[in-house]
Amino acid sequence: MVVACGGDGAVRETVQGLMRAPSEKRPKLSVVPKGTANILAKTLGLQVGPFPDFIHACFKQLYWARSRPMDIGFLNDEAFACFAGFGFDAAVIEAVPEEQKRRFKELAFFGAVMQTMFNWNPRELRFESYDAPKMRVRGHDRDGRSIDVKGYFVVAGNVRDYGTRLFPFMQNARVDDGLLDVIVVQTRDLKELVNIGTQVLARTHLRNPHVTAFQTGRDIVVESLEAAVPMHVDAELLDRGTHCRISVHPAALNVVY
Ligand SMILES: [Mg+2]
Repeated sequence: MVVACGGDGAVRETVQGLMRAPSEKRPKLSVVPKGTANILAKTLGLQVGPFPDFIHACFKQLYWARSRPMDIGFLNDEAFACFAGFGFDAAVIEAVPEEQKRRFKELAFFGAVMQTMFNWNPRELRFESYDAPKMRVRGHDRDGRSIDVKGYFVVAGNVRDYGTRLFPFMQNARVDDGLLDVIVVQTRDLKELVNIGTQVLARTHLRNPHVTAFQTGRDIVVESLEAAVPMHVDAELLDRGTHCRISVHPAALNVVY
């Protein structure tokens, strides 16, 4: 068993390494949560918190641990345990300095969302909204129907919560259903984006006409029809690109929790 002691970034690095091992020899993964958001640990129900909780989490894993298989996603060759994004959310991650992330934890991301959405231009004294490039998403849903939609913001996830429990963006995602939940936001109108954001808090965003959501067990292809866009896996930035392939490896890893 390999224990990743850190945040979701450390977990992702560990998963990336474990996935290189042949499946029959692949060690189990466990997590001692010590990061900013600890999304995977929270999803698995591991204790997350200050010192006494941390000790409890260590002992729990030593003495009362169970294990279960979980799916691993890939964006091209980069593994992810939680989610991958293409466009807007990666631009938000680009806008969060490491020092702010340490100091303000998840709150640093809210600041960066605002900064990315309402980009303040000090020279012209006005706000410039984020100029999202148009993207195309192709694939198949879980029933085999073919999907071909255009949008401005794409996330494929294996967990429900997007950064925090308050924001269950991939509302129906499970770590072990063999599927990825794909959300495509099909508007770049600022008012509508804010509207979708508040609907996520109320868990009604999947009914919004500007949101397309589907589950898939097969590869999806995301391409930017305009400029190269930033991409991320588990909030770790990759090089900008104009297209990517996102896939899922069902039950690829055994996690101890
Ligand atoms: Mg899933």
